[in-house]
Amino acid sequence: MPDQPSPNQAPAPTKLEGVARVIAVSSCKGGVGKSTVAANLAVALAKSGMRVGLADVDIYGPSAPIMFGVDERPGPGEDEKIPAVKAHGISLMSMGFFLDDNAPVIWRGPMAMSATRQFLRGVEWGELDILIVDLPPGTGDIVLTLCQEIPIDGALVVTTPQDVALADVTRGIAMFGKVNTPVLGVIDNMSAYVCPDCGTRDEIFGARRPDQLAAELRLPLLGEVPIDIAVRESGDAGAPIVVSSPDHPVAKAFMHISKHVMDAIEKLDDAKRAPEPVEIAQEKEREVVRIKWSDGLLTEYALSGLRGWCPCAGCQGHGGERRFVPSGNPRLQRVEAVGNYAIRFCWADAHDTGMYSFDYLRELAEMDECKPSS
Ligand code: ADP
Repeated sequence: MPDQPSPNQAPAPTKLEGVARVIAVSSCKGGVGKSTVAANLAVALAKSGMRVGLADVDIYGPSAPIMFGVDERPGPGEDEKIPAVKAHGISLMSMGFFLDDNAPVIWRGPMAMSATRQFLRGVEWGELDILIVDLPPGTGDIVLTLCQEIPIDGALVVTTPQDVALADVTRGIAMFGKVNTPVLGVIDNMSAYVCPDCGTRDEIFGARRPDQLAAELRLPLLGEVPIDIAVRESGDAGAPIVVSSPDHPVAKAFMHISKHVMDAIEKLDDAKRAPEPVEIAQEKEREVVRIKWSDGLLTEYALSGLRGWCPCAGCQGHGGERRFVPSGNPRLQRVEAVGNYAIRFCWADAHDTGMYSFDYLRELAEMDECKPSS
């Protein structure tokens, strides 16, 4: 394997103490109900018996203090860490506890990033099965930094079904791909208004059905949540609807979503044990090979990089250290599976002795030479 990591590789994220899994809830647009979903999902998972934390790092619009009815500022605990607040069965921490209600948040990028970083590591979370992180909307620096520094197991995308939201979601999914964070699925919030009297379904944010939405985004659908005044009211009153009205259809929808999220996490765990390619495609115009992996990762390789890092003995010699062997403008003819551990790339100049193990291919995706130029 290549010995030196390339200079633009981010350091490996380190785990949060006591936290088994971290799931990020993201939205690519503000106001689509990301925090409402994060809050209800957290309490729904706790109701299923899990030890759950919620970190509200939406620095520009923290809403957990209102949604959980907590207004005291938590004090310092042991080791200068701040103990998470207990609310509705979960361990909660919000940037909102430390911000002045009346002052606008005008932190510039680096300051906001370092505050977010310190915030997550400076909390005494206790032992958690799962920490839900309510991210700021969009794909800005805070989101990127978090994904690179905290080992996020998977991201959930919350959106409304309208075109303008979808364009942003697509950008968000691409960003998670870049930082190697698998997207577990999409939650279609405010999918429709169902009249409680006559049952008519009014598609306020567009006629796209939830399964259609998921198919367009090529993501699993984790569930839909209709627009309902009770959702807004319970959030404003300091108790997510899953807590305040557990029999309400929307509360039940959140319980279903939490089950689907757990299923998605289990699948991810399985895939993590041994990620393998599920789809290999060549984009001829871009001279790129694209591999979709069983853990949801999508990697791309410039043909010249792939060929240059050919692992065969002829290319590598016997010196011990891996070396890059440039070969002009290689053309790929076909790809063959070698058992269930490697892939053979057969090049147009008849060179076909390189067997690229799955692990090696994952490493190569990080090498500068393999990064596509466009
Ligand atoms: P975001 O975190 O994406 O900015 P919020 O979760 O703060 O969005 O939601 C924005 C507003 O929409 C809040 O007032 C919330 O109560 C309301 N809301 C969210 N989801 C629903 C829903 N399914 N039905 C009714 N109101 C909702």
